[in-house]
Amino acid sequence: MNNFDTVIIGGGLAGLSAALLLQKQGQQVAVFEKSQHLGGRAHTRQKDGYYLNLGPHALYRGGAGMKVLNGLGIQPQGKTPGFGKSPTALTGSGLDHLPLTPGAFFRSKMLRGRRLGYLQGLLKMVRHEPSARLNQMTWRQWLDQNISDHRLRVLFETTSRLTTYANDPDRMSAGATLAQVKLALTSNVLYLDRGWGQLVSDLRQKAAAAGIPMMTQARATAIFKESTDGYKIEFAREKAVFARHVVLAIPPAAAVDLLPASESLAQVVDRLRPIQAACLTVGLRRLPNPDIQLGLGVGLSYYHVVHSKSARLAPAGHTLVHTAVYIAPDDHRSPEEHRAFMEQALDQLQPGWRQEAVLCDFLPRMTVTHALVEAARPRPSIVIEDSPNVYVIGDWVDAEGMLADTSLASARDVAMIISHHG
Ligand SMILES: Cc1cc2nc3c(=O)[nH]c(=O)nc-3n(C[C@H](O)[C@H](O)[C@H](O)COP(=O)(O)OP(=O)(O)OC[C@H]3O[C@@H](n4cnc5c(N)ncnc54)[C@H](O)[C@@H]3O)c2cc1C
Repeated sequence: MNNFDTVIIGGGLAGLSAALLLQKQGQQVAVFEKSQHLGGRAHTRQKDGYYLNLGPHALYRGGAGMKVLNGLGIQPQGKTPGFGKSPTALTGSGLDHLPLTPGAFFRSKMLRGRRLGYLQGLLKMVRHEPSARLNQMTWRQWLDQNISDHRLRVLFETTSRLTTYANDPDRMSAGATLAQVKLALTSNVLYLDRGWGQLVSDLRQKAAAAGIPMMTQARATAIFKESTDGYKIEFAREKAVFARHVVLAIPPAAAVDLLPASESLAQVVDRLRPIQAACLTVGLRRLPNPDIQLGLGVGLSYYHVVHSKSARLAPAGHTLVHTAVYIAPDDHRSPEEHRAFMEQALDQLQPGWRQEAVLCDFLPRMTVTHALVEAARPRPSIVIEDSPNVYVIGDWVDAEGMLADTSLASARDVAMIISHHG
């Protein structure tokens, strides 16, 4: 069969969810994925009994993505993370307590004389009312207007990096950042057992049970308008297929390659700023300092969390630690410098980790999301103005939330748009 109602190009979370949602509406759909496996950036590799996500991944329990997954009958399995005995701040001048537990709040040196201001700042973030004005403002402007103390502003930048992955306060939207911080503070996240591959496997099984064809190693190379209401999609190795609707669940640059004639798409894609991270994941026989589950840079861009403390990600008795650098636009360090920085940070937080390491997985520059949510600049629309019945979905389009929440919300939205078109 080579005729479908909708063809979906890209088999990550967005593409697979869109396929299932459209199939539920009675559509004949098919998914074409260029790589050998489905899942995209939600893929989990298995090595020596460890489950390796592509960098640290946390699913927002109260986010749009969870609702979409639940609506498809998927209940992600995992646990909410604890902060450990000593949540730790890595500062330019050493270690301090990160005020995430009552004990750390009172012991923290950086909060001396600022404890009340810190609590007031947290309340302001949680109690903010979403507004058009906040979406026009940058995160830096909001911090400057609302947090008078410089050290607290630096500390709240750590909070925003942790929840958004973005390290660009001068451009990121205050409205979107506050919404994400609030989501994390009020409903927390889940670390998933067996990694995010769990989600991919659940989606794939449901799609297979529904009879949805899912082709891997099927790179789409071109899309042609065939008739007034149809497209022909060509692939590197597969035979061409035909469809009334085409959903591009792929990165923005790949979408532009497939639709070179679409000026509206090229223009918006050109302006997008990706969020990127360097990730070092280590598998350890033993965690040298079990008190430190969570260590974050304050004034430094660094993330350290023992994910295996909450989720089943390591062989019995072993530990999986995710570390990362949130790459700022003006961070021109080389991959080797990022790696050396993360290893030295581990030396401080987990002294002796090198002797315990059985696995080190370094990903020098991962695209966490293809579009920072910028102040006063909406992300591209799902509907492509000059290409009727062709749509874009993923974490870079104008849909609810951030990160995977946006990918999954955009899958929900495109299914609704297509069902209205009939
Ligand atoms: C280090 C890191 C940490 C992250 N942490 C979090 C987190 O904590 N919380 C969170 O919510 N999100 C997180 N994310 C983001 C999350 O992983 C992504 O938003 C989500 O997986 C994106 O899904 P997607 O389907 O939109 O895109 P992708 O997963 O990128 O899928 C796109 C698919 O399209 C395929 N493709 C591309 N071109 C073609 C073509 N021409 N033909 C056919 N197929 C094609 C690709 O191979 C790929 O499989 C993180 C990402 C990274 C990298």
